Amino acid sequence: MTTDPTNYSRPLLLAAGSSGTDTTNLEARLESTTVLVTADPEAPAALTTLRVLVANLRRLPIQLHLDPDGGAEQLSADMVAELEHLAVGIDITRPLNIYPPTQAVVHVHVGTSSAAAHICGVADGHGTRVRPQGHPFPPLLAVGTGLGGVLTGAMLTAEVFKIVVDVLPDCRGPLTPIDFCPVTLTEPDGIVRDLSPLDATALIGGGAIGTAIALILRELNATGSLTVVDPETYDEPNVTTYSLGTLQTAENNTHKVHLIRDELPGLTIDPFIGTAQDYIDAIDSGTKPMPTTVLGAVDSIDARHEIAALHADHTLDGSTGGSTGTMLSLSEATWHGPCLRCYYPTRPAKGPSVIDLLAERTGLSRERLARGTEELTAEELDALEGLPPEDRAILEREVGKGVCGLGKAFGLVGADNGFNPSAAFVAQQAAALVVGALVRGGTSTRPNYVQYDALFGPYGDMTLHRNSRAACRCQTDLELHRTVRSHRR
Ligand SMILES: [Zn+2]
Repeated sequence: MTTDPTNYSRPLLLAAGSSGTDTTNLEARLESTTVLVTADPEAPAALTTLRVLVANLRRLPIQLHLDPDGGAEQLSADMVAELEHLAVGIDITRPLNIYPPTQAVVHVHVGTSSAAAHICGVADGHGTRVRPQGHPFPPLLAVGTGLGGVLTGAMLTAEVFKIVVDVLPDCRGPLTPIDFCPVTLTEPDGIVRDLSPLDATALIGGGAIGTAIALILRELNATGSLTVVDPETYDEPNVTTYSLGTLQTAENNTHKVHLIRDELPGLTIDPFIGTAQDYIDAIDSGTKPMPTTVLGAVDSIDARHEIAALHADHTLDGSTGGSTGTMLSLSEATWHGPCLRCYYPTRPAKGPSVIDLLAERTGLSRERLARGTEELTAEELDALEGLPPEDRAILEREVGKGVCGLGKAFGLVGADNGFNPSAAFVAQQAAALVVGALVRGGTSTRPNYVQYDALFGPYGDMTLHRNSRAACRCQTDLELHRTVRSHRR
């Protein structure tokens, strides 16, 4: 078992940005903050919601309590054991306390029965209903699904986060009732559309949004086949920002595509270790089939442009970002427009990535550098030829440490170091929009663009219909793209 401490840097960075505090003060504050979770075990999708809520809250360095007797009925020993196991996988030094605290800063409840909880939430079909204390729930309209459960867990986390982090008033919405379904994009309507078995579908990106999409597919008991594309291995900071994986996954340097495969036994997963461009090359050479539907879960404009170059029928792209990392969006795109270039036209002016620069400077391969936590060995250093003595001296100091530190050691870490504020509950809401679109059947006839801030919640006018840009390649090169598509199929 790993002995490295859990790395809370990215959620703390996100929390610091929203609260105007520095991460050190915030960490001390969170460590003395107690949160209580209770649940009605028979509430719709209660177990899914609890899995998401407990894991998300464990991704903050708070004192976390679960009271198995705090709901309408007692939580089963199996349920409690599973949640304890989940929490220990994220932070072995902060186990879930299975008893009520003397006092809690926030009490959050899964279900409709609690009068004592500050916030309650429950799945209704694929959607969610969240209520502050004193606001009654309307009658629920449908059986809760895995999508509704994950979304409820994510939204309850957002409400707890606002309180424990003390988010600045202008960075958050008030605690009000939320009724939202990512399939209808309005309130839950009582109709639960089944997710069709997946076919000719590719998930591109196994990061924060990609693992959240995978989690939702798992909790929805999705069937069929899915290609998963990502070049990287799972790393320590991912434990507190992704929806899947544990300290052990990071210790094992598991490829992200293999983590997703192992978490989704109900789906036939074809793992592809590589970038979107590598995947396109494989399609062009006939070794991979052309997908019809692409679930986009990447974190850069360049990668979105690579996805656009696939020219798939449906592209459902999830994103997170904004100045505090809490904005999230869904962009529905098609090969004939709007494509992802229409949504993300500008390529930011930037040079080669840190990995590119390091590969050139050290002679280590990009593939090797991507295995960030794998320690640099003396043998690897000996095998490097033609290194200037000053660069060799830097590398000698790094022997025995993960290569993820090399960017810093060589002074190359700038804006492109991937150190972005990030939290699982934001990515899960973006993923819910993506899977909601998948349940609707792909890109709508009038493609949707949906955007909201996870600390404000969904609101009335957040969905826009999006047209193509006349100057975009999807319009000016339409015939060329048609030819490329027919070749690939
Ligand atoms: Zn376009």
